Amino acid sequence: MIIVFKHNATADEIKSVSDMIEKLGYEPRVINGVEHTVIGAIGDEKIHRSLEVFKAFPFVEDVLPIQKRYKLASREFKKKDTVINIGGHKIGGGHFQIIAGPCSVESLEQMQNVVRDIMPCGIGIIRGGTYKPRTSPYDFQGLGEAGLDIMRQIKEEFNVQITTEVVGVNHIAKIAEVADCLQIGARNSQNYNLLEQVAAAGKPVILKRGMASTIEEWLSAAEYLMVHGCSKVIMCERGIKTFEHATRNTLDISAVAIAKRETHLPVIVDPSHAAGRIDLILPLSLAAIAAGADGLIVETHPDPINACSDAGQQIPSKNFAAYVHDLQVLINAMGLKTEK
Ligand code: PEP
Ligand code: MN
Repeated sequence: MIIVFKHNATADEIKSVSDMIEKLGYEPRVINGVEHTVIGAIGDEKIHRSLEVFKAFPFVEDVLPIQKRYKLASREFKKKDTVINIGGHKIGGGHFQIIAGPCSVESLEQMQNVVRDIMPCGIGIIRGGTYKPRTSPYDFQGLGEAGLDIMRQIKEEFNVQITTEVVGVNHIAKIAEVADCLQIGARNSQNYNLLEQVAAAGKPVILKRGMASTIEEWLSAAEYLMVHGCSKVIMCERGIKTFEHATRNTLDISAVAIAKRETHLPVIVDPSHAAGRIDLILPLSLAAIAAGADGLIVETHPDPINACSDAGQQIPSKNFAAYVHDLQVLINAMGLKTEK
């Protein structure tokens, strides 16, 4: 931690803080600047007590952390990219995956139709919400267990991997029986109890960035999963809330580039929930790939107009091959591997 003193702090006040820092188990290093005096407190902030208490002192300007609040997720901890393997489909370390499927599982026939359309384009991980986190309680809430049954049948019939969202701790066991990958949605990105329990299920986890989370908060949420035993975390940028209303959320492309620097974990992008409109899915997907994303998670539906949720943003599954085709040049140019 660095303690920055106000310009009029007296030598006695600075000495008193220095003594307290030492008592707390850190080594204080006083630096007298032209404008301000600062003390660098050397020691592990995770072991010793936080020095944030000094913020309350009237002669202290600020207390700034030096260490990151996430460790296991950081590049400093692990330099090499983590590659996550979901049933033979690799994500990260130069392996690129497109995960696709409808917003919500609605019927067996809907899922069969979508998988038939997208599997030939190389899609091996299918998404689909069975428990839906809807903003309004009057909107379609998902089929729940019946949706999981459909997913089970889809897995058997097509030999695909599936990912679905967990919205509550009481669903984890049931979902983990069927799903190959669990998803934490934007609304639950900082639900720490849920993160802890989901980590314990032992499955790979797609962690969406909260719509109002900073990059550091998103990485700290990943740290929760990792500290609780989940090493297979896939970070997913899905847009954040800004003043802009032309899109549903604002896709934070910088966050993709920053996350790739900060963490060894794979980073994917959800252009569907970022844009909220079909015409932007392709350009946002291209931007994500160019920024270094390791994959995409995209909504597609056999009949989007009649979808139970997110009708305006799902690519008609008949058009999915054309979408993948339009991405391929850039995927190749970036030297990414898409085969199993
Ligand atoms: C979803 O992927 O189905 C979803 C609800 O997304 P988000 O949590 O990003 O809103
Ligand atoms: Mn959706």
